Amino acid sequence: MKFDHARTRFAPSPTGYMHVGNLRTALYAYLISKSQGGKFLLRIEDTDQERLVEGATDIIYDTLRETGLIWDEGPDIGGPVAPYIQSERMKSGMYKKYALELVEKGAAYYCFCDKDRLEESRVLQKASGKAPMYDRHCLKLTPEEIKANLDAGMPYVIRQKIPEGETTFHDEIFGDITVDNSTLDDQILIKTDGMPTYNFANVIDDHEMGITHVVRGNEYLASSPKYNLLYEAFGWDIPKYIHCPPVMKDATNKLSKRNGDASYQDLVAKGYLTEAILNYILLLGWSPKGEEEFFTLEEMKDAFYIEGISKSSAIFDPQKLRYINAGYLHKMTVDQFHEKALPWIKKAITKDYDTKFIAEVIQPRCEVLSEIPEQIDFLEELPEYSTELYVSKKMKTNQETSLSVLKELLPVLENHNDYTMDGLHEMLFGEIEKMGVKNGYVLWPLRVAVSGKQFTPGGALEICTILGKEESLNRIRKSIELLENQQ
Ligand code: GLU
Repeated sequence: MKFDHARTRFAPSPTGYMHVGNLRTALYAYLISKSQGGKFLLRIEDTDQERLVEGATDIIYDTLRETGLIWDEGPDIGGPVAPYIQSERMKSGMYKKYALELVEKGAAYYCFCDKDRLEESRVLQKASGKAPMYDRHCLKLTPEEIKANLDAGMPYVIRQKIPEGETTFHDEIFGDITVDNSTLDDQILIKTDGMPTYNFANVIDDHEMGITHVVRGNEYLASSPKYNLLYEAFGWDIPKYIHCPPVMKDATNKLSKRNGDASYQDLVAKGYLTEAILNYILLLGWSPKGEEEFFTLEEMKDAFYIEGISKSSAIFDPQKLRYINAGYLHKMTVDQFHEKALPWIKKAITKDYDTKFIAEVIQPRCEVLSEIPEQIDFLEELPEYSTELYVSKKMKTNQETSLSVLKELLPVLENHNDYTMDGLHEMLFGEIEKMGVKNGYVLWPLRVAVSGKQFTPGGALEICTILGKEESLNRIRKSIELLENQQ
């Protein structure tokens, strides 16, 4: 098969959560194909049935669908485009057929060694300080011996025969890499149960699916020479390699799906937006050509170039993610923000307040949606608070000045009926002018009295507008009482 446009695949093993490093690999593979008008495929590599984790494939599908990394092709089984699944492909016996072709060509051989023999040889190699590798015992078997073993029904595996010499290959990120073939093990291609190993199925499928660019984590750099020897033995074109450096938690620890670090689902649950997560992940080890850091998925397709991927590992930086997330939240219209914020607002508030107005007030200061409940929980009920909050050097206020301001305001607020921003603004600023004081001298105590908090999204006017007349007055009366009791 020859293809004149990029064909990439994301080939996850469903062994756990999808952490941001996995998602980044998927994103880069997607963008490499899309930036060249090509196709993106999804292949579930589940040949190692013992390592499978229940539910892991659904997490992969959901994550790709939610983030918009939609695969273009799959097996023809009717319905929407299905992903390729190795355990399904295995059933046709195709992998074994390919392995036997290699045996014919002299690039693979039958091995009848049992566990005990292998273990013995491993122990000996270790004792003499060598890296344990298959000792090629069965390579010495004659065709007659092999036939006799097969006829007798002896269990066997098929191993790759690594030729002598050196193997050099090119990686688009790491450059040319050369290894001495003597360091490569005659790895198993087909197991005793007739199933392919992960390493073999991976190569066969990349070829069968016409993959032009293999994008994956750099932990596979070391296996690539063995894969290339297989391509060469078959006489197939070797794809371009793009091995991405790992995403680290900090300078020494990788993000790992085993301990559930920063998976896409975790981040969504923490209140990050899908677009922001994807945008942040794009920048995690890739540099745009210009200054622009914000990209929609469509924009990424135009901007992406392979050389922008960094050689050094990326460190997951929660502050940067926060900054990108805030950028997306602040760019939204109030309606869009309200829709996203509503489930979080409802976590803190059961009262019948105008949630759209609450959203409008919190939007400019909101960086992560999950922080909303804590920022607005005072709206549900006036918390217990210390009157120390009334002390502000900047506003020249303290408990005493605040008490007298609140007492003066209370009857005015009782007589006032227009509890809208404009209505309250006109009335309060009129009062402030009459008192001949600075704005903060009145607005600071009023804000504390109705919120009971040091920091609030929005000031006294916004809070009174949300609370409405009755609740605002109740809170002011309560706060006056608190201040009087402390005199
Ligand atoms: N199945 C491998 C993994 O989940 C990926 C190998 C590849 O992309 O070639 O790590």
